[in-house]
Amino acid sequence: MRTVAVLLDGRLEVAVGSITEFRGDAVVNAANSGLLGGGGVDGAIHAAAGPELLAECRRLRDGPLREGLPTGRAVVTGAGLLPVRGIIHTAGPVWAGGGRGEAALLASCYSESLSAARGRGYRTVAFPAVSTGIYGYPKEEAARIAFESIERFLADGGLPERVTLVFFSESDASVFLRSR
Ligand code: ADP
Repeated sequence: MRTVAVLLDGRLEVAVGSITEFRGDAVVNAANSGLLGGGGVDGAIHAAAGPELLAECRRLRDGPLREGLPTGRAVVTGAGLLPVRGIIHTAGPVWAGGGRGEAALLASCYSESLSAARGRGYRTVAFPAVSTGIYGYPKEEAARIAFESIERFLADGGLPERVTLVFFSESDASVFLRSR
């Protein structure tokens, strides 16, 4: 993972690489409502965190999240073997053309995840580009929503101190920097 840009007076870092390498207080997982793992960044996080993460997700599904995690919401688990304190799972919207409230739901993923981080006292949090992989959200629009949501949340000066947006490829980071 390497830094490619620093924005918002140092409070927003843009990086390229795998989010599983992030060292800090928390990583956000672009999960699905089922919470029991999947492809993309979700698969990478579960693989790196180890079986304790899946076990904790199963306990959530057996108890407080019997119906799954609603789209746009976030829930925190332990980090298993990842070098962070916690994992914030959020369920992004599946892109369906833009007329099904996708923008508000994606903004909610960022604000709910940041609220969860603040609630836990996390100072440093890394996000992947939620919904822009298997869920098909157009990357330019997702970039604007991510930037605006993070900027708005950080405006009151509260935690987290620094947010890192981790893009899996150089070109995805470039799209973000051009589109935000
Ligand atoms: P979604 O289902 O929310 O679209 P995906 O995991 O398919 O989730 O993709 C979300 C974004 O995460 C995509 O831009 C994808 O390239 C990126 N991604 C995949 N693996 C990783 C990883 N290990 N670290 C950071 N980003 C990743």
